Amino acid sequence: MSELLASYVAGAWYTATDEGRVVADASTGETVARVSSSGFDARAMVEHARRVGGPALRRLTFPERAALLKTLAAQLSERKDAYYELSYATGATKRDSAVDIDGGIGTTFAFAGIGSRELPEGKLLVDGDLVPMGKQGTFAGRHVYTPLPGVVLQINAFNFPVWGMLEKLAPALLAGMPSIVKPATQTAYLTAAVVRDIIDAGVLPEGSLQMLCGDAGALLAELGGGDVIAFTGSANTAATLRGHDAVVRRAARFNAETDSLNCCILGPDAAAGGDEFDLFVKEVAREMTVKAGQKCTAIRRALVPRPAVDAVVDALQARLGRVVVGNPRSDSVTMGALVSVGQRDEVRDAVSALAQAGQVVSGDALKVEPVDADPQRGAFIAPVLLRCDDASRAEPHTVEAFGPVSTVMPYSDAAEAVDIAARGSGSLVGSVVSHDMDFVREVVTGAAPHHGRVLVLDRDCAGESTGHGTPMPQLVHGGPGRAGGGEELGGVRAVKHFMQRTALQGSPAALEALVAAG
Ligand code: NAP
Repeated sequence: MSELLASYVAGAWYTATDEGRVVADASTGETVARVSSSGFDARAMVEHARRVGGPALRRLTFPERAALLKTLAAQLSERKDAYYELSYATGATKRDSAVDIDGGIGTTFAFAGIGSRELPEGKLLVDGDLVPMGKQGTFAGRHVYTPLPGVVLQINAFNFPVWGMLEKLAPALLAGMPSIVKPATQTAYLTAAVVRDIIDAGVLPEGSLQMLCGDAGALLAELGGGDVIAFTGSANTAATLRGHDAVVRRAARFNAETDSLNCCILGPDAAAGGDEFDLFVKEVAREMTVKAGQKCTAIRRALVPRPAVDAVVDALQARLGRVVVGNPRSDSVTMGALVSVGQRDEVRDAVSALAQAGQVVSGDALKVEPVDADPQRGAFIAPVLLRCDDASRAEPHTVEAFGPVSTVMPYSDAAEAVDIAARGSGSLVGSVVSHDMDFVREVVTGAAPHHGRVLVLDRDCAGESTGHGTPMPQLVHGGPGRAGGGEELGGVRAVKHFMQRTALQGSPAALEALVAAG
């Protein structure tokens, strides 16, 4: 039987003594790892972060922390072939792994750059100008940021085992806060491999990074004010955590990135075969198939002018028909497996629910012939496109199929497109694919409050566009409502999420001296 994954607890590797939960390869069903945290010392872990990791990081200046991140990213780059190899077991193709592994390393490099270019020389981050507060000019106020004194507990989703950890770790380290990483059990072995390399490299100060493979419940009991819980995953788990005493009674900072029924809107100007029409079809098909649709930002709702629905469905059918599903280790495969057969069954159930409101026009959630793999043992599913001619139905706006699934719906005018977009109850990202600025303006103005990010895609930016589904380190990632109401990334703002904002008051000379001593 495979080895139980070790956790890194209070400066030592800890292995539970029970059998643990078995984690299977997504394509072959073979056991990859076992996961358990039973018996670990949660208090020691949190205290180690607070007493050893935090002080060590806080002794460093922003440029010194940025330099650590740069070294870390460079070292992970050298090891990435090993991560790619392991990543196949999650069901990911090489292209999918690039999003996770290179995406994570690139994000770490990006924060190293943000730290060295946009943060001050010292340890104090000043926010805004001096605010005079007395008529004589002897009393003033000024805001400053300092690192929170506690620990960041990252609780991550299964779909980005590398990026999901690094996109939180990098800004936390830059801020001067230590982290405990709790990977999703299903793909914890990949996160664990990266964390082991980071610990072995000895680049980070002891205590600034720990990892718990298993159940994080005991850690939550130790958290409170001065700590951060940074969660990514389902809305249900977010609701449980949001109601935990650590948050409700002890005021730990809580950030949630949850599920999201993102939309992509084709403009009325886009005729079949035109630039924007082709861009739209490409974007929807790509978002359905990258990571087999297991992306929080994937396009679940494709909104199309009513007269264009048939042409869009035809074009998507043609594209999706070329997708080769199978073992991601095989060169001919363009879409791998879902992370587990349990997830596949959940996606099948979600497709059945969505089909109540429309019809499946491409793919069959119950039938697939994977290349180089046994359909019984692997978590394979064909890409499934649905068409729902009645956008007022609830299902497409409420049911998340976390797989290669999207629904095409018609709209009549810009106002209705905005209305349908808003029915997702808050999304991470929405796209408008159009070259008609009047339409774009109306849709963006109406849809922006319901989204964390909006992409306006047209022929002018397509060549350099990073795409609908890619969160960028410099820009906000997060969304209102159903998307969790949180915010991550976004350059220096991401660093501030791990810092306390304090209003300093005193004489202008005293404030000036404090800031200068930074
Ligand atoms: P999940 O079941 O909510 O699990 C997420 C994480 O929470 C895992 O690490 C899980 O640990 C942990 N967890 C579960 N119950 C917990 C509890 N009671 N206390 C503490 N931790 C707990 O979500 P998932 O199935 O991994 O991820 C898929 C979902 O995440 C999808 O709905 C997707 O839309 C969403 N997602 C959102 C984003 C975003 O950025 N907005 C990104 C990726 C995914 P175990 O694995 O050990 O159970």
